[in-house]
Amino acid sequence: MIRFIKENDLADVVELVETRAVDLYMTENAWKEASGSFDACLAHLKTQDLAQWTARMQRMNKFAQLDAQKNVEESNELTSLLEQSFRFSNTYGVISYPACTLWAYKLAAGIIDKVIDVGLRVSAHTPALKISPVGDGPEWLVKTSRGSIKCRRIFHATNGYVSSLLPELAGKVVPTKGHVVVLQPSPKYAAEPLDHSAGVQWGEDFDYMIQRPSKW
Ligand SMILES: Cc1cc2nc3c(=O)[nH]c(=O)nc-3n(C[C@H](O)[C@H](O)[C@H](O)COP(=O)(O)OP(=O)(O)OC[C@H]3O[C@@H](n4cnc5c(N)ncnc54)[C@H](O)[C@@H]3O)c2cc1C
Repeated sequence: MIRFIKENDLADVVELVETRAVDLYMTENAWKEASGSFDACLAHLKTQDLAQWTARMQRMNKFAQLDAQKNVEESNELTSLLEQSFRFSNTYGVISYPACTLWAYKLAAGIIDKVIDVGLRVSAHTPALKISPVGDGPEWLVKTSRGSIKCRRIFHATNGYVSSLLPELAGKVVPTKGHVVVLQPSPKYAAEPLDHSAGVQWGEDFDYMIQRPSKW
């Protein structure tokens, strides 16, 4: 993904930031489960992959200590690192790994801009209302709010609302509600932005924080 964005000169457009993800486990059970998955992952990696993976995990010194010692419960030094660097306390454990943050809508729009340049036709604000086969042939008729179009292949990318066009998926793919909150950073966060993205893992549920870089 990062290579694709850079090769297509979209890094600034999408506000790409290469960073680390820091997953903070807030309950004992959540930590035990994550820690177990982490060990299982290590156990299944081939030796050469393990070396490469470990190297990536240690790229930033600040995180290397955490990577080397996943179980932070008993470490005072790491507890203060958690509070000072990650601005979190009372976590049972932390797993950190390379990640990036970007503005997903701008990535979609940036790609669409580029493919329009090479001939793609985009019909925005045009819901597909019905799809039906054309006779016995390989074609389909897509009825939209602005007329109908015939085609041989259809890619469904309607996410949770797919059953409006494919009724056989009703009850199997259903939309659920998600929330996002945009906050003006406090003076401390504005002066010293988080240099990682944070996942706050509660076990069955999670929250996450991504601070937009101040240069944008
Ligand atoms: C609040 C919130 C925060 C999120 N944060 C993150 C995050 O930080 N990182 C991350 O990776 N993911 C995040 N996600 C998840 C991410 O947004 C989705 O996984 C992703 O957008 C799914 O992409 P998609 O293209 O499959 O579907 P969508 O982005 O939902 O696109 C589906 C499109 O199909 C269109 N459509 C539907 N029906 C029809 C029709 N009949 N005819 C024509 N068009 C139709 C819709 O209008 C929509 O534009 C978040 C989601 C939410 C709700």
